[in-house]
Amino acid sequence: MGSEICPVVGNKQNILKSIIDKAINNIDQNKKINLIWLEAATCSGNIISLLNAENPDVIYLLRKMVNMTYNNSLMAEEGERAFKKFLDTLDTEFILVVEGAVATKNNGLYNVIARYKGKTITGMDAVAMAGKKAKYVLAVGSCASYGGPSAARPNPSESKSVYDFLDREVIRVPGCPSNPQWVIGTIASILINDNPELDKENRPVLFYGITIHDLCPRRSYFDKGIFAKKLGEPECMFKLGCRGPITRTDCPIRRWNNSTNWPIGDNTPCIGCARNGFPDSMEPFVRY
Ligand code: SF4
Repeated sequence: MGSEICPVVGNKQNILKSIIDKAINNIDQNKKINLIWLEAATCSGNIISLLNAENPDVIYLLRKMVNMTYNNSLMAEEGERAFKKFLDTLDTEFILVVEGAVATKNNGLYNVIARYKGKTITGMDAVAMAGKKAKYVLAVGSCASYGGPSAARPNPSESKSVYDFLDREVIRVPGCPSNPQWVIGTIASILINDNPELDKENRPVLFYGITIHDLCPRRSYFDKGIFAKKLGEPECMFKLGCRGPITRTDCPIRRWNNSTNWPIGDNTPCIGCARNGFPDSMEPFVRY
């Protein structure tokens, strides 16, 4: 299913492009909204995924769309100077993006993100501080959205999703990691004051409105009851444990790394990484 020929792909890409173009036209380049991207209890996979963004890429996001004032991985400042930028942003209008769950055991000490004026700042402190003041909060990735691997059994750090930790509206952009187009597209929707249409789990319908199964290129095998018996075979992987029928994302048409490929395209069953309950209730990832 090539993105240049499929009308569904073309339509989705056009919608995304028009949202981003509209956002750019609406932004006063001298007054871009600030954005804090906070890495809490995470593998940092979502910021890495963002760096892989294409069309638009991360440079476009940073130059044209937002003013990223704080990010644990990308900023030039270190130590107290870095955390001061986080604190300074709290007195402005800003978007808070959190990747990673919130480790809550021992007042969050399982996830220390800074030391400032002799005080230890945990991810839990930072999410609470910024979560209170942010104009919008995006939980990016499955840990921030649902707890994900960070909160998986036996969850020694007593981690929680940002959605459960904060007592306010949080837009979920799940995935392990989240596709960069889901993130940039959601930010663009916010920027045009056209808050994305959300489903009942607070996910943008534009990206999470269909299941992987709905548009899977192996769907005709499923419909005819022809199933792969082992990995590497070209047929439907339902009987190998594929979670595509219960996982809502547009992976089959959006794909990854500039639309190069995606798990099912590489003969791996969907493991439901964007779903509530991942990974505990999605295991075993492959069944025979
Ligand atoms: S491989 Fe998975 S998503 Fe694709 S048709 Fe089979 S069950 Fe559905």
